[in-house]
Amino acid sequence: MWVLWRPKKLVLFMVLLLTVYGHTGVSWSRSLGDGGKKDEKDVGLELTMDNFNTSLWAAPASWALVEFYNRWCPACQKFKPHYEKVARLFNGPDAAYPDVVLLAKVDCADEINQKLCQRFSVLRWPTLLWAKPTALAWGSRTSEQDPVLEQIPIKAAYNANSLLEWINKRLDRSYTFESANEQKQSAQTTGLASRQMVASIQDIEEATAQAYEIILTQKLLSSKHRTPFIRFLQLLVVHHPSKRCRAGSAEVLQNIKDAWPGEHVSEFDDHFTGIIQSEKLVGDVGALKRLHVCGEKLPSKHWTTCKAENNGYSCGLWYLFHALSVRVDDAESNGAMRTIRGFVENFFLCDDCREHFMKMSASAAETVTTRRTLALWLWRAHNEVNKRLADEDIVNKVQPSRPKLQWPPKRMCTSCRKHGDTDDEFEWDEDEVYIFLRKIYGDSLEVAVQESTKITTKSRHSENDKVEETLTNNSVAVPVGAAAGIAMASCGFGVAACCWRLQQKKRKQMRRRI
Ligand SMILES: Cc1cc2nc3c(=O)[nH]c(=O)nc-3n(C[C@H](O)[C@H](O)[C@H](O)COP(=O)(O)OP(=O)(O)OC[C@H]3O[C@@H](n4cnc5c(N)ncnc54)[C@H](O)[C@@H]3O)c2cc1C
Repeated sequence: MWVLWRPKKLVLFMVLLLTVYGHTGVSWSRSLGDGGKKDEKDVGLELTMDNFNTSLWAAPASWALVEFYNRWCPACQKFKPHYEKVARLFNGPDAAYPDVVLLAKVDCADEINQKLCQRFSVLRWPTLLWAKPTALAWGSRTSEQDPVLEQIPIKAAYNANSLLEWINKRLDRSYTFESANEQKQSAQTTGLASRQMVASIQDIEEATAQAYEIILTQKLLSSKHRTPFIRFLQLLVVHHPSKRCRAGSAEVLQNIKDAWPGEHVSEFDDHFTGIIQSEKLVGDVGALKRLHVCGEKLPSKHWTTCKAENNGYSCGLWYLFHALSVRVDDAESNGAMRTIRGFVENFFLCDDCREHFMKMSASAAETVTTRRTLALWLWRAHNEVNKRLADEDIVNKVQPSRPKLQWPPKRMCTSCRKHGDTDDEFEWDEDEVYIFLRKIYGDSLEVAVQESTKITTKSRHSENDKVEETLTNNSVAVPVGAAAGIAMASCGFGVAACCWRLQQKKRKQMRRRI
């Protein structure tokens, strides 16, 4: 009897110990080997019931992979270094391929996570689930055959190579551990490009101010220019990366009714069809000339990253267009494309450039329907101009100091190019290009705006509250009237955009309530 009873008791005792020490587990898990240890260098994101939904909801990556494991399970311990190896490619500050896949993990041995593991019907360890981060954030599954939350087969979770191979197949990519170093170098170059963008915010402001001046000093300014001018300002009010340019544009919009009264233009009128026939300029445009679209000190005729001798204005304009393209909402994208075309058609004072641009972008009305298609359309158009200029240089046997390249060059973004190694023969990976454009013209510029705001705040403190508007000041408060202008412009940009915005706001509120 005792002989029979003792092993059972022992097992029970062990289970009790494991349960009690399970929470603090560090010393216990260490005794079980490295696999169970939570290493500080781990980059696989450790999630718990408390932060699972919110972390995945906020994840910038396009995909998420979650490993449900149990720190006591030997197979999980064996697999851990392999999972970490793959995670280092995609997660953390040194990731070779950031924002592609988020690799996360949940320890089902933690009592706090038990409901979470049940929610995903985890029956064995490790279980690897693959889905969009948002699908995981709010999802659950009842069987291993769930079509949305895909379970990675056991043989793929064998080692780092098999897991990366599965990811490559799933994404139709060829990420490798070997090319990661090359990619890291490219990431450093991207870092350089990002820093360049931080400086280019000044060029964007300068180009905006020059554009405003050029428009209002055009000798042939007529009432047919009013609508494209207003639409351009509306786009700036909502999406210009610089706060002071948003505020300045709002102020101009507020004054337009008095300074440049015109026929009422319905939101659905197409300004390319020339609905406004009158060629007579009405009103006092001089009043608008006295306003400053990006602060009093601009334009200064000074360029930071654009080269004056290389036509700083058109370089700054490209920056502005790209920055706008990654900021609009999907519902606004077609309107934004028309606004940019309208600007070039009416206000870009280079006949050849205008003609080429209008011709090559003629079909954009049908194809630009989202922010992604807008950003890629503009990127393609810019590259087409780059190519034409590069070809002209070859024909004219000119060797420019900054040769026109297909952008981004490989050293800046390796993953933007698939198949083909030379600069002449390759295929773009447009998903990666879009990620890159958003990083360069979106995130980096946000950093620029924040940094220039910090500079202003510092200078305010150091000069005993003598407020000096520095060149890079972005912290100008939007006046109440202008704020109303912004709100109106935001809605005026298109009824669809307005409805969409309201819907988004409602959804956000709902989510907060949940
Ligand atoms: C709408 C438009 C049409 C033009 N058409 C002509 C023309 O027909 N003939 C002509 O001689 N000039 C044209 N120009 C001017 C020309 O494109 C350049 O702006 C000018 O030669 C200055 O070149 P840059 O070397 O400073 O760099 P730019 O070409 O002005 O580029 C500025 C920066 O944008 C980034 N960049 C480059 N390519 C891309 C891309 N594809 N996507 C995103 N970012 C990119 C790079 O960081 C680059 O430094 C046009 C300009 C505009 C705005």
